[in-house]
Amino acid sequence: MKIRNHYTKLMFASLLVCLIFIAGCASEDVPDHDVDVHTFANVDDVVVTHMDLDMALNFDDQIISGRASLQFNNLTGSEEIVLDTRDLTIERVTLDDGGEETEFSLGEFVDYLGQPLTISITPETEKVNVYYETSPEAAALQWLEPEQTAGGEHPFLFTQSQAVLARTWVPCQDAPGRRITYNARVEVPEGLMAVMSAENQQERSPDGVYEFTMPQTIPTYLLALSVGDFDYSPLSDRIGVYAEPEILEDAAWEFADTEEMMKAAENMYGAYRWGQYDIMVLPPSFPFGGMENARLTFVTPTIIAGDRSLLSLIAHELAHSWAGNLVTMATWNDFWINEGFTSYMTNRIMEEVYGRDYAEMLWHLDYQELIATIEEMGEDNPDTRLHLDLKGRDPDDGMTAIAYIKGAFFLKMLENNLGRERFDDFLLQYFNSFAFQTMTSEAFLSYFRGIVLEDPVREVPADDMEEIDLEEQLKLDEWVYGTGLPDNCPVIHSDEFAKVEDQIDSWIAGTDASDMEVENWTTHHWLHFLMNLSEELSHEQMVELDNTFNFTETENSEILNAWLLHAIEHRYEEAYPALEEFLLSQGRRKFLMPLYSKLAETPEGMEMAQEIYREARPTYHPISYQSIDEVLDWQN
Ligand SMILES: [Zn+2]
Repeated sequence: MKIRNHYTKLMFASLLVCLIFIAGCASEDVPDHDVDVHTFANVDDVVVTHMDLDMALNFDDQIISGRASLQFNNLTGSEEIVLDTRDLTIERVTLDDGGEETEFSLGEFVDYLGQPLTISITPETEKVNVYYETSPEAAALQWLEPEQTAGGEHPFLFTQSQAVLARTWVPCQDAPGRRITYNARVEVPEGLMAVMSAENQQERSPDGVYEFTMPQTIPTYLLALSVGDFDYSPLSDRIGVYAEPEILEDAAWEFADTEEMMKAAENMYGAYRWGQYDIMVLPPSFPFGGMENARLTFVTPTIIAGDRSLLSLIAHELAHSWAGNLVTMATWNDFWINEGFTSYMTNRIMEEVYGRDYAEMLWHLDYQELIATIEEMGEDNPDTRLHLDLKGRDPDDGMTAIAYIKGAFFLKMLENNLGRERFDDFLLQYFNSFAFQTMTSEAFLSYFRGIVLEDPVREVPADDMEEIDLEEQLKLDEWVYGTGLPDNCPVIHSDEFAKVEDQIDSWIAGTDASDMEVENWTTHHWLHFLMNLSEELSHEQMVELDNTFNFTETENSEILNAWLLHAIEHRYEEAYPALEEFLLSQGRRKFLMPLYSKLAETPEGMEMAQEIYREARPTYHPISYQSIDEVLDWQN
């Protein structure tokens, strides 16, 4: 997933509790890496291997009703199977292929996690059939009114199962350490298209009935469904894009380099193992940048900039086809196993396709974000560890720049120390060895030490000496279990950004903005420019920049976001209509959170934010508005 939580006051409350807890708990350094504290399922006794879903969508009432048939292996002869559910109404449950009903009960509701569904089985039972209905409040389901789509004529539904939301639309063992295959039959209103994280058809079905097969095993957080008025356009013989007809052509143009990215990734990390790779462009209320649903990445339309400048997000979701989807974190505590690897690989793919200067800018932007995050969180904060302790907390709390960027820099540090060729060989071997399996911090370190540090056939003189040195040099445990940033973190230099800083200096020294040398600047140059401007600009300076570079009018969502933050800071009211329009027209949390937070810093800003939010909130996804409610102290 491409998101990053902005650190909010909400999190501080839970952190304080956590700090106190850890201070009194010396055994934190020997965590039990395999125990998933975010599932009720009795996964050690009963292992679900396959699901058959039969679902009918009711857009008027905003519910899905259906049957989930779960096949499993009963390892211990257990007389019950426990599944995860949240806000589901369970109508009845039957066993195997018979019509006979069995007993079931829903346990107590727990925050974030929902309720355990305990079903009576016999040691011989191989399958349970759960007949159920979702709630209109199901957190994974966003039902859009026609006016919330580009076309404006048909309703739209999309799902977001990560982190622990699959259980709000399918009763399942909702644990990233378990994998299933699935088939599905889905009935939607006639005329609408439906796709899943599975083998998809590329044409609409005349009767509104769609059948899906997912032959590769996935964790349930990759279960996904999207239904609406959209069509398919191929980009190569194995890659394509789904989007509303109004934006399909623009989307296909924007993502044309995807095949080249795929080839670059395959050259480094081995063959793509999922058959087809498609991109589903969602309506603007999608709260994230992208979500790596297997075979079918979901993306925000805010990356369609008209100049192919925001494609690192596609590289990121594509890289998940190896890191995350193929080799998956065993629990949410090791979210970096998914996102750190992916973020590292994103910059490597971008380097292969767009060159070294480009990748250096990406690393530099990442580094700035990482430093800012650690500064904000505090370098002793336990949440700055790669391996987290999320017991009793929402797994979303772990979705910070630490998992993504500290994780990426950990791997970059390994690459720098081992040499690119040797590290690439290691990663290729890692993906081949653990394909369709799970991984923990502990298992990764042990595998790394086995392959790299204790490699018996390695042709290095003075073997023993070198091994000891390398272990010390790499500081593996400090990176994974320590807080803050180890002192062997790679230093990033970007020649391109040095040029940007020169231009800023010369503008501050009196050069006209129109005389600045900005030819061939990419989005990343502009972002670096905007992020490094002084926080004390005069109104005249804001006007000069805007008149010269048309920031307020830009179609590029990243640049607009960075500019609007300055506009709020400097009360540059000329940009307020654009600010309001931006907040009302898209629901990506990455943009909404900093803008609303910035507005909330002053009483006038807070008033303006509340006014816009009153209108915008109903169009946002719960994942976005739950975060913003906190910032604006919003009372329903
Ligand atoms: Zn990701």
